[in-house]
Amino acid sequence: PVILAIESSCDDTSAAVCVDGVVLSNVIANQTIHEAYGGVVPELASRVHQQNIVPAVQQALQRAKVSKNDVDAVAFTRGPGLLGSLLVGVSFAKAFALAKNIPIIEVNHMQAHVLAHFIGDNKPSFPFLCLTVSGGHTQIVLVKDYFDMEVVGQTLDDAAGEAMDKTSKILGLPYPGGPLIDKHARLGNPEAYKFPEPQIPGFDFSFSGLKTSILYFIRDNVAQNQDFIAENINDICASVEGRIVSILLNKLKKAADHYGIKDIALAGGVSANTGLRLGLKEMGAKYGWNCFIPEMQYCTDNAGMIAIAGYHKYLKGEFAEQSVAPLARMPF
Ligand code: ATP
Ligand code: FE
Repeated sequence: PVILAIESSCDDTSAAVCVDGVVLSNVIANQTIHEAYGGVVPELASRVHQQNIVPAVQQALQRAKVSKNDVDAVAFTRGPGLLGSLLVGVSFAKAFALAKNIPIIEVNHMQAHVLAHFIGDNKPSFPFLCLTVSGGHTQIVLVKDYFDMEVVGQTLDDAAGEAMDKTSKILGLPYPGGPLIDKHARLGNPEAYKFPEPQIPGFDFSFSGLKTSILYFIRDNVAQNQDFIAENINDICASVEGRIVSILLNKLKKAADHYGIKDIALAGGVSANTGLRLGLKEMGAKYGWNCFIPEMQYCTDNAGMIAIAGYHKYLKGEFAEQSVAPLARMPF
């Protein structure tokens, strides 16, 4: 089947085409308008989605060399995400499908982040554990089958990506800060400063204490030396990133031991982080894990992952009604 997929849950408008389980195109239109505000402005995001969606779909079809008349079904992100943003993608999918008299397929964005691992040739085998780390979520997911997933651990407060973005804000770096922290961290010493590791039971996470300790650390040092941040930006970023990575990987190790699972995957925007990718590979080598890390373009929000999830639902004949509405919150 030819699946056209739409992703519009946050601030990226993305369209992809997947033919018989092979993703042939993955077009992502980033929104730069939010930089000026230091974070995503929902009202602006939905307006820009409206402008971007038709060109994104046209490009995705063109790059895949597929005509719009060949599309067999339209997959779309139903949630979770920003309601106004989701509404644009959901409405587009419904209208396209209605015009072409083809079915629609709803996809859960967080399941799709996990299913991004089924895009390439190197696929994990069930059951596997997936650490999904993104702007809004931090989850350890026990993946038993394509759509049989259980969240066994999650953050009690901030997400890992949020911790990255809030730290960068404290440091005066522009939004989104994750990639900039990554860039500076490569040039710094992760042992330069020690930030606390929270003691949270089970496989859950907490990042709000870390954020507060970074805030106080910076405030106290800047009081003594105005240029503290500028002089030490690489070491600060390396130390913060190092702590976030160790919090994530220590919990993942604990879960891997508990469930006796050696196929370990990484997903979500923060899996683009160099330190986390290297850290997982090191741990994998040490404990004999088979590690799976998605290609960069399938880490952050993208329609390719919606397409592959849609393909597997298509095979099961799971279609949505035209009356389907987006969901800001959407459990598995
Ligand atoms: P969710 O999937 O939970 O709804 P989202 O879709 O907004 O959230 P993603 O696009 O998956 O999130 O990820 C965005 C996050 O990833 C941001 O917090 C960003 O700072 C972070 N991020 C992206 N690249 C890197 C990197 N190289 N290092 C660290 N963090 C990064
Ligand atoms: Fe996401």
